[in-house]
Amino acid sequence: MEINEDKLYDELLEVRRKLIRNQSTNNIRKYYPVFEQLNYTLAQITGFAVDPKDILYRNVDELNDDIRLQNKKQILEYFNRAITEGDPLYFLFMSFNDILKESNYIPLINDNIPFYNETQAREMILTYFKQFGDKIYNIAKSYLDGRVSINIDLDPGTGGSFMNNYANELGYILIKYGEFNAASISAIVHEIGHAIDNSLFVYPQQKELSLSNQFLIEVPSTFFEINFLQYLIENNIDVKGAQYCLADRIFILRRLSDEYEKFYNLSDGLITEDRCIVDPTTDEVIDLDGAILYGYGYLFSLNLCELFKEDKNLAMKKLINLICSRKEITILESIESLGFDEDEFLSLKRPKDNIKKFIKKYNEGFNIYE
Ligand SMILES: [Zn+2]
Repeated sequence: MEINEDKLYDELLEVRRKLIRNQSTNNIRKYYPVFEQLNYTLAQITGFAVDPKDILYRNVDELNDDIRLQNKKQILEYFNRAITEGDPLYFLFMSFNDILKESNYIPLINDNIPFYNETQAREMILTYFKQFGDKIYNIAKSYLDGRVSINIDLDPGTGGSFMNNYANELGYILIKYGEFNAASISAIVHEIGHAIDNSLFVYPQQKELSLSNQFLIEVPSTFFEINFLQYLIENNIDVKGAQYCLADRIFILRRLSDEYEKFYNLSDGLITEDRCIVDPTTDEVIDLDGAILYGYGYLFSLNLCELFKEDKNLAMKKLINLICSRKEITILESIESLGFDEDEFLSLKRPKDNIKKFIKKYNEGFNIYE
């Protein structure tokens, strides 16, 4: 899996031209981040980057002020929404948190799960995506054929990154792992989930999601990731690796209640430009944003994957409706649109037995599979 450098360079120059041609605040706000993402991708795989200095002829200070003001407005809107929508969800998250606390989750290092070579990994991914029809399969394939690079030195803690490209239907995927196992392969599937979202919904509708509407941005990616792991178990492809990854992902849900709890106990807070909240008395950083994106992502996906087990076509229809309407509706309305009862959904009533099973097996250690 390697990124086609020539294609990437051409796309970078195309975005650069878009920026030079139209220097309105909106155009710069839209394409400058794309330029930076593509430039970062180029730097990661070649060690070289394009100098952005000569792109903008507008007064950069004035422009930055404009953008900062718009960003500030959006960040405030975002957290406002987090408060109003999180409020009714808060106590249900707390009850789920208790289940996880009871389970004595102990994080382990994934050095004890099977490894694969690149051909096997590719085959596992493509065979999985085949069941979703040509459109989705072809997106997955076009990424594996020149838009995914592995062994990239991303920030610590991140397994993969989708480099969005609003100027093009297709973006790029950077993966931090150097070896193929269930963890790295499901990370690729997760990023392909973002790619599918971008190609099928965001790009054709030019439905650029603003900061305040990003609550469900991790739903398509986490859906394919969880669904892929369950597929590995059901088809007896890699039970041990998939069990490890599922137990690990479920842990992320605990962060959602933890961060909400800290957030609600805060009497005063500073919001930083990278969307973190800082407690001014203790300097503690609350990453409510990250907790929301992944927490809601896994919460929706675990429920959707249960629907998928019951009725594959219906689950896909509901997923697509949810993705298309996420800009307009609230979290509670989204839950209703899936046909779930709120309490049932938020307490993960349907997947709960599976979750308990994964965590139990995980805590018992991996030897039982050998
Ligand atoms: Zn993601």
